[in-house]
Amino acid sequence: MRIAQAGATGFRMRHAVIAMAIGLALCSGPSRANAADESLQLKVGAAKADITPELREGHPVWMAGHELNRPAEGIHDPLFARALVLRDGQRSIALVAVDLIGVQHPLVRRVREQLPEFAHVLVASTHTHEGPDCVGIWGPAPDRSGVDPQYLEKVAQGIVRAVREAASRTAPAEAVYGTAEDVTLLADYRLPNVFDPVLRTVRFHRPGKRDETLAVLVQWNSHPIEPDKNRLITRDCYGYTVDRLEAEFAAPVVYFDGAIGGLMGTPNKRFQDAQGNWLAKDAFDLMRMYGHAVADLTIQALEGAKPVCMVPLVVSSREIALRLDNAGFRAARRAGVLPRPAFRWTGDVDRLGEPVAPDSDYQGPVALRSEVTYLRLGELHLAGIPGELYPELVYGEFQDPADPGADFPDAPLEPCVASLLPDDDKMLLIGLASDEVGYIVPKRQWDVKPPYAYGRDSPQYGERNSVGPETAALIMEALRRRVAEAQQASTASAK
Ligand SMILES: [Zn+2]
Repeated sequence: MRIAQAGATGFRMRHAVIAMAIGLALCSGPSRANAADESLQLKVGAAKADITPELREGHPVWMAGHELNRPAEGIHDPLFARALVLRDGQRSIALVAVDLIGVQHPLVRRVREQLPEFAHVLVASTHTHEGPDCVGIWGPAPDRSGVDPQYLEKVAQGIVRAVREAASRTAPAEAVYGTAEDVTLLADYRLPNVFDPVLRTVRFHRPGKRDETLAVLVQWNSHPIEPDKNRLITRDCYGYTVDRLEAEFAAPVVYFDGAIGGLMGTPNKRFQDAQGNWLAKDAFDLMRMYGHAVADLTIQALEGAKPVCMVPLVVSSREIALRLDNAGFRAARRAGVLPRPAFRWTGDVDRLGEPVAPDSDYQGPVALRSEVTYLRLGELHLAGIPGELYPELVYGEFQDPADPGADFPDAPLEPCVASLLPDDDKMLLIGLASDEVGYIVPKRQWDVKPPYAYGRDSPQYGERNSVGPETAALIMEALRRRVAEAQQASTASAK
């Protein structure tokens, strides 16, 4: 099948030139701030806080991610909020990963109120399906929330504690950035088969001392293993990734998901037990082996990593409006199991209308409040996407032509992340960033009405956990604007 490359290379090149001019002005060495401006020295700190739920008699912990009514029966391994704080002498940014299915934007707003000294706090979820419900839709029944507000408060306080502790530990640092690919660690559980097989990683080390690691950031692009019969709380495979890398580098490690929608998961026949049997989803051995394979891929990426300047820190983030077309989400909101504010849809991704109460009789289209973030970390470009991005939207690898069974086969192709960022060779892509709005589906793939694509007799899975067919275009437009705003700000300050 032919793959269309959306997003013109010329667009990318134009931005690359601007970024390089600014970068040269501020990075005298490969990874050092200009000696003339001592204030632009990268500092890095990392810390973690335990956010494991308490299991008590009479207080069920509803596990998120599979069928309803799945109470936890024990703790396999603890859950954490892991924070990485970056400073450039002028601004501080916190990048936090939590071992949860997907923290919602209202919680991130609450966390930020307690950390006003930070130019940005990004809270992303590792998307474990083996932790407590933090959304609301996995309770004991469809009309009963699975969220324990006290537990959410524990998560919020854990994040704040981890960020403050990481901030108190910041030390001068230099950084190296590396990538490695292994498509055999991915399976696509939805046609067409498209992957983002690139693991991206940053290792921070003491200035001039390449082997003294201060922290490691890892970004990889797959759902965790998600054993669906499991009743034990666990970080899933990426817990093993983090543990192995922390042992390897004797430093804190923070793991982030990239583009995991569309639907990225573990291949069925990739790992075997000692008897040569293929390990199935419910085996904790598969979690361990997969997690270690991702750690090994990280080590491989870091072996070829190159110094990268990571100052100045530029933040371009704002709240956006996502038109809410999903009838199931709207019903869940009315029932109180999805307690998110909604607003009148204005037609503009950057503009929220009047608030609409859950019980309002307003009949017009409404929007969820979410956010898209672009962080320019010196020479690195970080896109923060508030959900599970389909991999098509990373490098613009769309099926062309679309399957005629799809609902909008002639819809325009959305611009992709790589074409929107100023330099796609130095990017980080964090999914479920400061929100989890579900799947972000290219409109040409949207398929809820018969006839269905690929000759199927039922719709594909994905749309029912998506805000709507316009979500991908809205998010990409928001990212385009955030990058443009950062460029304008940098150009103005360089004058
Ligand atoms: Zn998912």
